[in-house]
Amino acid sequence: MEKRSILAIGAHAGDMEITCGGVLIKAARAGTEVHMLHLSLGGRGHPRKSPAVYGPQKEEEARECARRIGATAHFLPYQDAEVPDSDEIKIAVANVIRQVQPATVITHWRSSMHPDHAAAHRVTDIGVLWAALEGMGQGPVWRGVQRVIFTENWEDPEGFTPYLYVDVTAERDAWREAVQAYELFRGGVYAFDYLGYYTALGKVRGAQIGVEWAQAFAVWPWAQRQRVDML
Ligand SMILES: [Zn+2]
Repeated sequence: MEKRSILAIGAHAGDMEITCGGVLIKAARAGTEVHMLHLSLGGRGHPRKSPAVYGPQKEEEARECARRIGATAHFLPYQDAEVPDSDEIKIAVANVIRQVQPATVITHWRSSMHPDHAAAHRVTDIGVLWAALEGMGQGPVWRGVQRVIFTENWEDPEGFTPYLYVDVTAERDAWREAVQAYELFRGGVYAFDYLGYYTALGKVRGAQIGVEWAQAFAVWPWAQRQRVDML
């Protein structure tokens, strides 16, 4: 049987959940195996808690959020604001891809005001390639990635054009409940209203495709080609 797993790779715990958690919930409910890989915990992002306190808290929150989504959480040990663009992390990402064997890989868009997000994009891009090559990591090669798509993140707007829309009206409430496993998304950490922003964004994306609520992704320009046999 064809494998349909999804692997969402985020720079920080919370990035993938807040941007495409509804889509992940929908997939998990349909029986698709859903995995999330957090390259760092994002443990330096709290104005009043030290990384030594906030890092472990975010790991706990990531596990709880994954449980609510119906996904499995994986972690790499990189530090917040220090996600590298190195061969080491590309091999580590390739190894997780080989282990999880996803058909769909989701990550950040290529340009971002946050260097960790841009790094996550690059190491995922190379990781998918290296996972498919002999001698580039551990475990059997995996050539089954059929698409790599990019989430809509308020920090990654430059050049982002939504292309692939998923109707997740039925998953909106479960998404709101899942992401609130994070203190960050319950509010009070930053002035930025994450939950309000992404709830409203889903309303906008939904309106554009004629449904109540949707989450959208960018794709590579060469993935926008459509073949038809006749007009
Ligand atoms: Zn982030």
